[in-house]
Amino acid sequence: MKTVMEVMRDGIDEQGIRRAGDILKQGGLVAFPTETVYGLGANALDETASAKIYSAKGRPSDNPLIVHIADWEAIYRIAAEVPVQAKRLADAFWPGPLTMILKKSDEVPLATTGGLDTVAVRMPANEVARALIRAGGGYVAAPSANTSGRPSPTTAQHVAQDMDGVIDMIIDGGAADIGLESTIVDLTDGVPTILRPGYINEAMLAAVLGDVEMDRGLTADDAQIHPKAPGMKYRHYAPKAQLYIVEGETDLVRERINELTAQHAARGESVGVIGTDESSACYHGSIVKSIGSREDEGSIAHHLYAILREFDEMDVSVIYSESFDTPQMGQAIMNRLIKAAGHQIIPV
Ligand code: AMP
Ligand code: MG
Repeated sequence: MKTVMEVMRDGIDEQGIRRAGDILKQGGLVAFPTETVYGLGANALDETASAKIYSAKGRPSDNPLIVHIADWEAIYRIAAEVPVQAKRLADAFWPGPLTMILKKSDEVPLATTGGLDTVAVRMPANEVARALIRAGGGYVAAPSANTSGRPSPTTAQHVAQDMDGVIDMIIDGGAADIGLESTIVDLTDGVPTILRPGYINEAMLAAVLGDVEMDRGLTADDAQIHPKAPGMKYRHYAPKAQLYIVEGETDLVRERINELTAQHAARGESVGVIGTDESSACYHGSIVKSIGSREDEGSIAHHLYAILREFDEMDVSVIYSESFDTPQMGQAIMNRLIKAAGHQIIPV
């Protein structure tokens, strides 16, 4: 299949959006920019179209898709119940990087929800995304537009690396602003529960909802406690080389990474290091990439997946990363990084 690249870096191109919307209405696949990461879109109400997403990504069929809408009223067709908390959250954070889990209506095929009787709903802030959703019929199922197990794509070029020749169209809207997937909050089961941390953190949700909990499956060491979001149990975002997170006091972390690098170098192995603008110059003998500045946590979130992809292109045997426990998004950044590392953490 020939994959068409539509460039919309300067905003909406009406004709291009119409072509993309037609592809969705005909059951095809279009990757598009959002403020979180790039999404791989299909008509969420068409089970054959949804099924194509799973095969394009190689995604396990029990891992449900998020349905993207462009207007608040659209929610009533896909949700069987819309609790008052949903409206409050929408008023506070939509359009934006927040996904809500609600009871699904009969209109949503089980192929879209991975067999669940609940549906994940989000209204993205990106204008190109909302124009596409409207042009495509109003309901676009879209997981991240990567091959399952690879880092999520934050540029159209990342999408092309994984999806060229596999999907109908990629809309290039430039780099995703945030660079991490949406926060997911479950409103179907008692106290609202965060199933996946993101840009919108626990304190921001608590300010609107009062009570909010973190899914125990996200933090528990006990492997018997599974995360409630089916997708969170997989080892996502895995780079090709083994990644280790070195955690502790700043100077000790730098020292330890340099020691470890020297040990690998003695065996003739090359080492990748994920540092920051503040620390990059402190590392020796390794391929060092700065993820951003500790003064600007947005820059760290923004570059995380791109750096993991860059290291995939290089011949490194192992990657060491600093830890990024930043104020607003620290929980989200570390959730993704720890998954990419397969939970390999070296305390110093
Ligand atoms: P992605 O779109 O690739 O960021 O993945 C979507 C995430 O949302 C996965 O972790 C899914 O497991 C989660 N998700 C989607 N729908 C539901 C649902 N109905 N209940 C719980 N988690 C969901
Ligand atoms: Mg994903």
